[in-house]
Amino acid sequence: MDNRASHPPHPLVVQKYGGTSVGDTSRIRAVADHVARTRQNGNHVVVVVSAMGKATDDLIRLATETSSVRPPREMDMLLTSGERVSMALLCMALADLGVPAVSFTGSQAGIITDTTHTRAKIVTIKGDRLRAAIDDGQIPVVAGFQGVSTQHDVTTLGRGGSDTTAVALASALDAKVCEIYTDVPGVFSADPRIVPDAAKLKRLSFEEMLEIAATGGRVLALRSVEFARNHGIPLQVRSSFTWEPGTTIDEEDPSMEQPLVTAVTHDMSEAKVTLPGVPDTPGIAARLFRALADNAINVDMIVQNSSLHGTTDISFTVPEDDLATSLQITRSLANEIGAQTPQADSNIAKVSLIGAGMKSHPGISATTFEVLAASNINIEMISTSPIRLSCVIRRDQAESAVAVLHKAFNLGEA
Ligand code: ADP
Ligand code: ASP
Ligand code: MG
Repeated sequence: MDNRASHPPHPLVVQKYGGTSVGDTSRIRAVADHVARTRQNGNHVVVVVSAMGKATDDLIRLATETSSVRPPREMDMLLTSGERVSMALLCMALADLGVPAVSFTGSQAGIITDTTHTRAKIVTIKGDRLRAAIDDGQIPVVAGFQGVSTQHDVTTLGRGGSDTTAVALASALDAKVCEIYTDVPGVFSADPRIVPDAAKLKRLSFEEMLEIAATGGRVLALRSVEFARNHGIPLQVRSSFTWEPGTTIDEEDPSMEQPLVTAVTHDMSEAKVTLPGVPDTPGIAARLFRALADNAINVDMIVQNSSLHGTTDISFTVPEDDLATSLQITRSLANEIGAQTPQADSNIAKVSLIGAGMKSHPGISATTFEVLAASNINIEMISTSPIRLSCVIRRDQAESAVAVLHKAFNLGEA
């Protein structure tokens, strides 16, 4: 449905506030002020909130302390409670300012997902209650990171999923922009908590932001960027502490010269599995990776050595949370095919360089390897895309690798 048809003079802005942005009651009042101001400036506003501060982590800890058996359906029931608290408090803070606001759970907002508990995907958004609230002059405040499945159960969208809620609502309600408010003033050339002179990036293409999000730059959830790109929703990442202009993410401007390297990212959440002594015959890799895929395990990098004496080694990385299952699957295949015992290694990190200009410039890899070598950092795996180069290294060297690469490619603030 076209929102502009029913609200010709007022553009719609979707604003998402992350955990730190609503971390205590004074932060919630500051957010209410900003929402009220946006409305005074002549916009319709739809707000999406995360759970307060570390509330989601605290709920996960409660579950872990209570039981070793944590059915995904019950985890979703538990975790969705965090966002309920912040949405109700924000509506109260808005009411205090005389701004009519009404809260909605994901289910009430009409966010329909598939049935994959703890990492559900949005199937459709009905959104008619949100439109009715807007028509009524109210500000809808929606609980992020959740929906209701086609089987009528409450689901969550995976960690960081409030970003996805916001972008999906922006698309469904035909918003002009989706603003993501967080605890840093934008997307930086590296995680500003690790590289103090990281530079704020004014503008990024969806493609670059996708690679940043996919390689550990957790400032935006990967799925939210995919959604924004697929539906052409411009994003703005901004600080809810300083409210200064942040980073705009939209289509690449073909008339602009693309920087060689835009950002260095790191990801410490993966682990490596190595299967040595694999018979070098057709179909073995297919069996291994089919079994992993059937268990919904997202394999990232894969390396297979060329065989010298009829056997080869296969190494791959998976999310550390899926390491135990991956190892179990690999062990049972090793037995069947007569390979050696698989080895697990959690002590890895992935460091990546992202830059749209890499497409047309050879030599980035060589420089990267030289810079890492000069710091005595060993590269264990390598993978590339047209605009990304990733290296797996030891985890305790990740921060220094990010620092030396950031410096070598002159990404710091001028
Ligand atoms: P929120 O709770 O608002 O969703 P997140 O913690 O999910 O916030 O994301 C913001 C954090 O992302 C920042 O505090 C920062 O440490 C981290 N981050 C990692 N890489 C980057 C980057 N390249 N630019 C900006 N922030 C980054
Ligand atoms: N509260 C959820 C989390 O911590 C969702 C979000 O904040 O995006 O992952
Ligand atoms: Mg986040």
